[in-house]
Amino acid sequence: LSSDPLARFRDRFALPDGVIYLDGNSLGALPKSTPARIAEVIEREWGRDLITSWNKHGWIDLSQRVGDKIARLVGAGPGEVMVADSTSVNLFKLLAAALRLRPGRCILLSERGNFPTDLYVAEGLVELLGQSHELRLVEPEEIPGAIDDGVAVVFLTQVDYRTGRLHDLAEITARAHQAGALMLWDLAHSAGALPVDLRGAGAEFAVGCGYKYLNGGPGAPAFLYLRGDLQESIKTPLTGWLGHAAPFAFETAYRPAPGIGRGRVGTPPILSLAALEIGVDLMLEADMAEIRRASIALTEQVIAAVETRCPELRLVSPRDPARRGSQVSFAHPEGYAIVQALIARGVIGDFRAPDILRFGIAPLYVRPKDIDAAVAHLRAVLDGREWDRPEFRTHAAVT
Ligand SMILES: *Cc1c(COP(=O)(O)O)cnc(C)c1O
Repeated sequence: LSSDPLARFRDRFALPDGVIYLDGNSLGALPKSTPARIAEVIEREWGRDLITSWNKHGWIDLSQRVGDKIARLVGAGPGEVMVADSTSVNLFKLLAAALRLRPGRCILLSERGNFPTDLYVAEGLVELLGQSHELRLVEPEEIPGAIDDGVAVVFLTQVDYRTGRLHDLAEITARAHQAGALMLWDLAHSAGALPVDLRGAGAEFAVGCGYKYLNGGPGAPAFLYLRGDLQESIKTPLTGWLGHAAPFAFETAYRPAPGIGRGRVGTPPILSLAALEIGVDLMLEADMAEIRRASIALTEQVIAAVETRCPELRLVSPRDPARRGSQVSFAHPEGYAIVQALIARGVIGDFRAPDILRFGIAPLYVRPKDIDAAVAHLRAVLDGREWDRPEFRTHAAVT
């Protein structure tokens, strides 16, 4: 048995020579077959067949088709996932829909360290509703105890973007249900990184990101999941024409589309969707259990190598791989400048304020030898105090 069972996938990505890419959790790498597919959609479908492509090339069904494929990666069934909008917008739609299902309850519960957009969107929704609701934020370990009969919806990101800490999706969902609350998962750092079983857990709602582990490209559309049995009772506040039961009847009043169709709002970005489909297809060729095994082996390797060779960095990810997603993070007061010095050497990770160096491990294209090389570069950056150069200390707009 090869020590790198996913090695066959590495060659399917267009990674530049000399680059070790440890940021697939922020922007996934480019699959080699994406440019030709995009060129085909532009030249043949858009260029030649013009508007007839909505029918002729199935553009109108593309969001649903890719959604059904993503469903297989997150433990959902056909017709339970739709590709649409951004993760932020989908969160707004689903949080609002959740509140409508629990009219007697006023609390939206999450954790303080949740990804900012999730918190900002909830804050904006509460404000829109005229402060009739309350956004309650607690520490992660306080969540189970904070789910009481005032909570309408619990919304959490399964894998913490800073530390990689992995929530027990089934356990927290069960706890929410016990208290009569609804559960919404943000799978931004889970989809394509580890097996997820939304149906098994019975979660009502989920959202996730197309441009991270799904390799859909910059700004790829996101997805949303609505549990099948609930769909007919769901109303989102963004009632656009493509979420209508009969968009081309051009009726005056809104009638929601049956099923997951109501998760759509407006016209989907076909070019980005076509690119996302390539990334998702590639992911479906691999076995998610195999991806998880490789991810654990690689993150264990990162931790062992950094702790042995670079003890000045402090591990902030959980040490137990069962409680960790597919990234490893370390703290260091000069984290930002160290990451910049690493990037100058071709080792691309990223930095998250205040002091976290984050290394995303996308098992389809990160190899064991990449980890060894990356840690050797890290040691050299520290030994040579390479981080202590003015050009590495100025913060760019995107970190
Ligand atoms: C990346 C990420 C998002 C991204 O939201 P966009 O609307 O696509 O910008 C949302 N939530 C989490 C937890 C993320 O990690």
